[in-house]
Amino acid sequence: GVNFGNDNEIKALADAIAASVQSWKATPLVPGATSSATPTPVTDPADRRRTVGSWQAADSATVEKALGNAAAAQPDWDRMPAAGRAKILEHTADLLETHRGELIALCVREAGKTIPDAIAEVREAVDFCRYYANQARKLLGHPEVLPGPTGESNQLFLHGRGVFVCISPWNFPLAIFMGQVVAALVTGNAVIAKPAEQTNLVAFRATQILHEAGVPAAVMQLLPGDGATVGAALCKDPRVAGVAFTGSTETARAINRALAARDAAIAVLIAETGGQNALIADSSSLPEQVVKDAVNSAFYSAGQRCSCARILFVQEDIADKVIAMLAGAMDELKIGEPRLLSTDIGPVIDEDAKKILDEHSARMEKEARLIKVAKMGEEAAHGTFFAPRAFEINSLCQLKREVFGPVLHVLRWKAADLEKIIDQINATGYGLTLGVHSRIDSTIEKISRNVKVGNCYVNRNQIGAVVGVQPFGGEGLSGTGPKAGGPHYLTRFVTERTVTINTTAAGG
Ligand code: NAD
Repeated sequence: GVNFGNDNEIKALADAIAASVQSWKATPLVPGATSSATPTPVTDPADRRRTVGSWQAADSATVEKALGNAAAAQPDWDRMPAAGRAKILEHTADLLETHRGELIALCVREAGKTIPDAIAEVREAVDFCRYYANQARKLLGHPEVLPGPTGESNQLFLHGRGVFVCISPWNFPLAIFMGQVVAALVTGNAVIAKPAEQTNLVAFRATQILHEAGVPAAVMQLLPGDGATVGAALCKDPRVAGVAFTGSTETARAINRALAARDAAIAVLIAETGGQNALIADSSSLPEQVVKDAVNSAFYSAGQRCSCARILFVQEDIADKVIAMLAGAMDELKIGEPRLLSTDIGPVIDEDAKKILDEHSARMEKEARLIKVAKMGEEAAHGTFFAPRAFEINSLCQLKREVFGPVLHVLRWKAADLEKIIDQINATGYGLTLGVHSRIDSTIEKISRNVKVGNCYVNRNQIGAVVGVQPFGGEGLSGTGPKAGGPHYLTRFVTERTVTINTTAAGG
C-alpha cells in the first residue's frame, strides 16, 4: 500500500482544502480542437453556494477530431514495447502520489467525498497503475510460443484493439476513471475518455498527469460532456473498437444497442453496472458485528458505492435486537461537511440523486415501517444531503430497482426460508455483492455457493475491492466481467494474432 502520511499531514490537508482557491477548470483535451461551448459551473455538493470551478463540454467537431486523432495515433502506440507503456504508467503512479493533495482536495470538493474516502480513491488509482503495468509486462511482454509439429513455429501476439472509449461514473471519479483508462492504454489502445458530467475536474487533472508522465496527447484524450450527446456520439462511431463502461445497468443497455446498430466490426463492451446487494445474518451471527458492518456497508460514502448493502436479511430470533442496535448505531453517525475529519458521511452527488432518494423514501414511508432516520447537522442545510435511513420491509418485491444512496431495507427470515431467500436474491437478476454473517460453516457454504454474485464477503463489511487482492465485478444485470483489478481484466482489451511459420521453407 501507499503511505499517505500521519494525522498531521491529513489535518494540514483538511485545512488546505478549506483554503483552496476555487478556480479549477476542465476543458476537452483534444489536440487541434477548440470547443466553443459555454462553461458550466461546478458547485460543491456539501454547500451549493460554493463554486469550485467550471467545465466545458466537447462540441461535435471536437468529438470528430478526437476520433480522428485516436485512430491515427493508435498504431504507433501499439507498436511500442509493452514494457515502455508499463513504465509510463508506473511514472503516472508516482505523479499521482506527488499530486495527491490536489487530487484529494478535488475529490472532496467536486464529489463530496470524505477525506478517508478521497485518500482511498488516490490509493486505488495508484494501485491500478502499478498492477496493470505489471500485468501488461507479463501478458504482452513476449509472444507466447505454442507447441506445434516439427517444422512449424507458432507464436501468439497480443495487440491493442484500436480506439477504446472509456465511460466512467461520478462515484469513484478518480479510481474507476484511471482503472479503465490505464488498462486500455497499457494494452496498446488509444483512449477517448468520457467522464461523468458531475466529476470532470478530477478527470481533467488525471488526464493532465497521464500526459505529464509521457502518454501522447492524441493517445489519451478527454471529452467532457453529457452522456446522451457526447457519450452516445462516441458509441455510434464505427472507428470505436471497444467501450469500457461503468455506471448504471440502463446506460449499459443503451451503449450495447448503439454499438450493435453500427455498420462496423463488432465492438467489445466491458460493462460494470449496478447492484441490489443483500446481507444475510443468521441467528448464530454476532449482532454487534452485523450492525457495525451493515452500517458501514449501507451508509458510509453516503451509500453511493455499487457494492453497498441495500437489504439486510436478519433471522427472526435476533431481529429485534439487531434492529434496536441498528437504530442506536445510526444515532452516532456524523453527517455533514466532508472536509472535517469528524464527519462520517457527506452529501449525495447532486439534486437529481437527492430527489430520487426522497421519492423512494416517501414510498417506503407508506409501504414499509420506518426504523430510523439519522440526524443531520445544521451545516447540511446548504448541500445536497440525504440523511441515512432504515426501513423494515415485508418483501423484496418492494424494491424494483437499485436504490443508490444511504437506505437500508431490513427483512426478517425464518430458518426454514433460507432456500427461498437465496432464490429471491438470485431472482433480482443483479449479481454484484453479498454479505454473509454466520458462525455455521454449512450455512456460509450454502449461501456463498448458491447466490450468484461476483463478490461475497463473509463475517466482514461488505465493501472493498483491493487491486490485485480482491478483484471486483458482478454478473447478470451487474456486469460482464472480467473483474477490475484482477488477473484477467486486461485480456478483453487485446486482440490475439497467431503467427504460424513453416520453418522448413526456403531460408527457414
Ligand atoms: P450513469 O449510467 O448515469 O452514467 C455513467 C456514465 O455513462 C456517465 O459518464 C454518463 O455521462 C454516461 N452516459 C449516460 N448515458 C449515456 C449514453 N446514452 N451513451 C453513452 N454514455 C452515457 O451512472 P452514474 O449515475 O454515473 O453511476 C452510478 C451507477 O454506477 C450505479 O448504478 C452504480 O451501481 C454503478 N457503478 C457500478 C460499479 C461496478 O463496478 N459494478 C462501480 C461504480 C458504479
